[in-house]
Amino acid sequence: MSLATDDFSTLPSLDRVRNDWTAAEIGALFDLPFPELIFRAQSVHRQHFDPSEVQISTLLSIKTGGCPEDCAYCPQSARYHTGVDAEKLMSLDAVLAEARAAKTAGANRFCMGAAWRSPKDRDLEHVCEMVEAVKALGLETCATLGMLTAAQARTLKRAGLDYYNHNLDTSPEFYGEIITTRVYQDRLETLQHVREAGIHVCCGGIVGMGETRADRIGMIAALACLPVHPESVPINMLVRVAGTPLAKAPPLDRFEFVRTIAVARITMPRSMVRLSAGREEMSEETQALCFLAGANSIFYGPKLLTTANPERDRDRVLMEKLGLSPMQ
Ligand code: SF4
Repeated sequence: MSLATDDFSTLPSLDRVRNDWTAAEIGALFDLPFPELIFRAQSVHRQHFDPSEVQISTLLSIKTGGCPEDCAYCPQSARYHTGVDAEKLMSLDAVLAEARAAKTAGANRFCMGAAWRSPKDRDLEHVCEMVEAVKALGLETCATLGMLTAAQARTLKRAGLDYYNHNLDTSPEFYGEIITTRVYQDRLETLQHVREAGIHVCCGGIVGMGETRADRIGMIAALACLPVHPESVPINMLVRVAGTPLAKAPPLDRFEFVRTIAVARITMPRSMVRLSAGREEMSEETQALCFLAGANSIFYGPKLLTTANPERDRDRVLMEKLGLSPMQ
């Protein structure tokens, strides 16, 4: 017996960019037979991107550890004993040396992350100097510094910042299980300030934190129903770090992770869907499935803030095996 395409005729149309996705529609995508879901994600991907190209970003922690927030997944929270020590903001020269190395290694976007609840204005001045200098190297710039006021977002825009990362992390319903020191609305307000300042938005979430599929659906719905889709959507697999409250979270089935990537691709067809944290623990085959499901961006380099990421050589070999090339 074969399944006719009509068998899925109740599923939503995929031929336009939408910001009105319902949880029921997103749930129906998650429920599709795996080959049908991948086929649909591939079809959408090919309408908007060259499927043989992958955008390469490098992420540097410019201010590590000592964060007052209590994000249950994060080794940089001062509340958990993870062996990550609080450090000062890096010097401009040190950041520039890392940015040059990233460029030489093939990155076209350089992301700078600081473990702050929100930046102080004097810290922001230093970050602005970094943004200007990194941009002058010919790299796109991205920063993730915590919550921003509207004025701070405008300051970063004036410095030339291209992207700001601020993840929604999970569904609105599950958020309180993961973070208690801020609320979902705080995240949405920072995203609005970033968007209104004219900076591109990088916003995604983390799966494998003990959430249900309904929460994964809720997370995708929250992202796909933003007034404008984020230009970059990082989908992270939890890295279970000893000392954090989620150190023993049950591992998420890899196919469920791939499904989450595919549904993100279908619902946000023009966004870069980034295969982010958790790649170090993924097989080449799982990563290949993620690319088939529409992921078209990765972080490149041996470290993601404080957790391990595949060595550059390993990534180069995988991209060669799959015939993928860096997006220019
Ligand atoms: S995720 Fe960010 S805000 Fe949360 S504890 Fe870690 S560094 Fe702080």
